[in-house]
Amino acid sequence: MLQMVKVAVEYPFTDIRQALQKKGYQTDMVEMEADASIYDVIVVRNLNALSASFIKGSLVETGGRSVKEVVMEVEERLQRAGKIAGRANAERSGTGAGFKSGMLAGAAAGALAALMMAPKSGEELQRLLKEKISTGDSEGEDSLNRIKEKAAQVKDKAMEMKGKKSMGQEKGNQSIFETVPDGFRVVTVGSGNPLTEIGRNSPSTLVQFKDKYFLVDCGADTTSTLFELGLPANKINNMLFTHQHVDHNGDFWTFFIDGWQGSGGRRLLNLAGPQVQELYDATVNFFKKDLEYRAGLGTSKDGALTNVHITDFTEEKHSLELDGVKITAIPVPHSAPTYAFRFDAEGQSAVVSGDLTYTADLGPFAKDTDILVLDGMMTSDFSGLPEEKAENLEKGLENSHAVTEDLARMAAESAAGKVVLTHLGLGKIDVKRVTKEFSSAGFKGDIIIAEDGLAIYP
Ligand SMILES: [Zn+2]
Ligand SMILES: [Zn+2]
Repeated sequence: MLQMVKVAVEYPFTDIRQALQKKGYQTDMVEMEADASIYDVIVVRNLNALSASFIKGSLVETGGRSVKEVVMEVEERLQRAGKIAGRANAERSGTGAGFKSGMLAGAAAGALAALMMAPKSGEELQRLLKEKISTGDSEGEDSLNRIKEKAAQVKDKAMEMKGKKSMGQEKGNQSIFETVPDGFRVVTVGSGNPLTEIGRNSPSTLVQFKDKYFLVDCGADTTSTLFELGLPANKINNMLFTHQHVDHNGDFWTFFIDGWQGSGGRRLLNLAGPQVQELYDATVNFFKKDLEYRAGLGTSKDGALTNVHITDFTEEKHSLELDGVKITAIPVPHSAPTYAFRFDAEGQSAVVSGDLTYTADLGPFAKDTDILVLDGMMTSDFSGLPEEKAENLEKGLENSHAVTEDLARMAAESAAGKVVLTHLGLGKIDVKRVTKEFSSAGFKGDIIIAEDGLAIYP
């Protein structure tokens, strides 16, 4: 479904907002720290004053320009992002849609003109038109409705995940976890990146072998997403961390305590990865009273304060066996101590790379694996961003995340059966370009673009 075009304008530029509204765009005034992820374009006073969390939408700087100039740039951005088709051009070339005269700048007229000129985004504009006519300009109500709509979409997606995302192996609105796979099943629980985004939660990957679960990383919302998918946290005894960046461990407290408490809680926890001892100690220390209170209500201390087995990674290579699955880990280059994990059992295997830049070690480590989950952050197309911003972003990230060419090399060197690109979301993924680069590097397997709740089988 096509999304509605949404523009945010930073305070205090109400005049720019009015001009955009007159042209029929959904527009909100936002504070600096507002959630920018739902907007297609954000008009801001100063690009340089923005934190990294603002790079989601396409940014337009007011920079002492006239309202008209800013509005023109907003439309160019929307057009470049494919949100409106040819609208800005058509209007500027004098086809009379109201860009110059302002006579036809009323919302309905603007949308109607664009509708006629833009067959591709017709559905979107029809909606825009309908909504504008039916709601007039009651902005408060408007944005409330939009929030409701967004919430409904998220819920639908979660419901949909239970049935659809299992590659057709299970049908209907049933949890994929109601069936036990013959071998491995990998679920990208959260397929996103460090920036909060609707539709892509922070990174977390579940590796399942038969009825045994291994949770690799636990970014924000992991516990609730797993629950929605039909797998409550108390069912998972093995928790592994690739590294301790907040997008990979932000939900640890919830997972740890929620999965343990109550009579049905987990009574054994295996923790492995770099700095897990530190993470555990800090948590238990901070929640000492909370844990004791819950234990006092009758919950056994096992699984939280006792019967917790910690393998803290401090050496080059680690190898352990949990629930009959051989797990090996090697360090990979990233901006924090980071490990890639390999799971082997009964002739099948799966590898989770963690965040990384190119390393010649990954290919041999992941050799002939059935499923290779890779940090695909740099496969995003940053072209929707202002050029300078995109360039800075790309340069900044290249030191800690592999570019597509390097991902392709590692995939080819591993000769994995399937590569799953996750840790996504900064921009659209140009699947065509990615496929081309992977095949020209000599990768012959399947390429899967992760989604939250997607299940992958060998
Ligand atoms: Zn990281
Ligand atoms: Zn990360």
